[in-house]
Amino acid sequence: MAVEYICKICRGHLNVKTSIVLAASRLHSSIRGLVFLNPEIGNYTTTTHPTFTIQEGEEYIYNCPICHSQLNSTKYKHLVRIIMIDENGKEFDIYFSGIAGEKCTYKIRENKVLQKIGPDVKTYDKYFDIPEEYKKYL
Ligand SMILES: [Zn+2]
Repeated sequence: MAVEYICKICRGHLNVKTSIVLAASRLHSSIRGLVFLNPEIGNYTTTTHPTFTIQEGEEYIYNCPICHSQLNSTKYKHLVRIIMIDENGKEFDIYFSGIAGEKCTYKIRENKVLQKIGPDVKTYDKYFDIPEEYKKYL
């Protein structure tokens, strides 16, 4: 079984061939299109149609192309969440930035950050660096 990426709402498969396919729209704008993301964690290569260019520094709303649910996190501002299922069937939350050009990815399971990667990872560390003394309340 290969690694799969699914929608957090409908659990529909988001990975097709060698990409994760999401619908994206620029915040406060009618500009929208499809984005192909590289499923390799830490690879920020994206592919879009030439008529839809991702503008660095702009925030995008990502939607599931199957059920149209918004994938941007309501809990963590500026981050987007999808679910990864690994070769062993284990599920992880994958968070990445909705702001174009920001390179950071978090792989989380049961409130534990298992992997964080990317040059901008420090930007959102505040969301996940929970002081030890508070962990017992989670
Ligand atoms: Zn969906």
